[in-house]
Amino acid sequence: MGIELSKIVQGIEPSATLAMSAKAGELRAQGQTVYNLSVGEPDFNTPRHICEAAFKAIEAGKTRYTPASGIPELKKAVVEEYKNRCGLEYAAAQCVVSNGAKHALHNSFFCTLNPGDEVIIPAPYWVSYAELVKLSGAVPVILQTDESNNFKLTAEQFRAAITPKTRMLLLCSPSNPTGNIYSGQELGELADIVLENNLFVVADEIYDRLVYGDNKFVSFPTLRPGLQDRTIVINGVSKTYAMTGWRIGWALAPENIAKKMSSLQSQETSNPCSVSQYAALEAITGDQSCVSLMVSEFAKRRDYVAGRIAEIPGLSCAEMGGAFYAFINVKKHLGRKLGGVTVNNSKEFCLALLDQKKVATVMGSAFGTEGYIRASFANSIENLQEAFDRIAEFLA
Ligand code: PMP
Ligand code: GLU
Repeated sequence: MGIELSKIVQGIEPSATLAMSAKAGELRAQGQTVYNLSVGEPDFNTPRHICEAAFKAIEAGKTRYTPASGIPELKKAVVEEYKNRCGLEYAAAQCVVSNGAKHALHNSFFCTLNPGDEVIIPAPYWVSYAELVKLSGAVPVILQTDESNNFKLTAEQFRAAITPKTRMLLLCSPSNPTGNIYSGQELGELADIVLENNLFVVADEIYDRLVYGDNKFVSFPTLRPGLQDRTIVINGVSKTYAMTGWRIGWALAPENIAKKMSSLQSQETSNPCSVSQYAALEAITGDQSCVSLMVSEFAKRRDYVAGRIAEIPGLSCAEMGGAFYAFINVKKHLGRKLGGVTVNNSKEFCLALLDQKKVATVMGSAFGTEGYIRASFANSIENLQEAFDRIAEFLA
């Protein structure tokens, strides 16, 4: 008999976004042309001045261990940037730099949750949330939101879901996978319930700078006095600066929690990559015009994708205020025979679309909501044009 898996990992699913992207990669390796709208990562190269900061760091021998929770310069830059942009004061000791925002999320859950604690997660949610919560032994409580309310959790829904075991609310605005953005008013109503019930919040703000049109990002802990002590803010450089491979993210947390995250990290992974930290420092403190350029390009693509979805019979999509995803309603096509294959759910839809038309997307079921597929528009307009032509053919 082989070695038995632990009970906790038996319940963990692989990341569907990364799995779909890997499938697209395998087809490409076989020589096929694939339009990859699955994984959410900017298609731009990391801006040159950021790469140069990394070259310089290597030349200067910054290639050794750093403090486990990150270099002091980077923590200082993170808290200063947050203060300038959002107006909240954090001490550098409240910032823990990790191997991507994903790792910062893991640290946050692991340091605050106990087995049996309930974490409220509005669906559709980013694929890794429920799995990371389960890894800490806690229980994800999934609340389905409604497309007619642009997939936002309402105060009534939140209040009704609270039990004596509820510990935390997980928020992601702008959202992966829907691109929705909560207004200050909407977040304020949720914040009041958090405070009344002594709950904690993990606010994943990784898409905070990728916001389009008149939409405005509001940082959760700014909404009410006292919220900062009940919130862990998650962010990083992956999305804003096209730095997914560098693996730098962070948490801003109450000091006792930040201290424990730092201890946990010192035992589990040590510091995040030293060179990447110097690159992230340049990203935050250097010229920001690269961000505006990328955002204006994403905005054009968003408008293009919204137009294409509206044109294809039987598809629809709620407003995308930020991030770079379209969460497309495909319910009208479920149950149909598409290219000889009956497609009954979002997974079968995505697999048939990839198989027949070589367009990779991610099934809504991976985000906890059936009847939808997610398409990333972090792709050139040319690629998006060809991909949506193929989707239209697939459904014709
Ligand atoms: N949160 C959300 C909502 C995301 O979409 C991602 C994308 N990977 C992450 C966290 C993790 O980002 P990172 O690459 O910094 O780990
Ligand atoms: N966050 C991105 C996505 O949702 C990257 C992949 C991942 O980390 O899951 O596609």
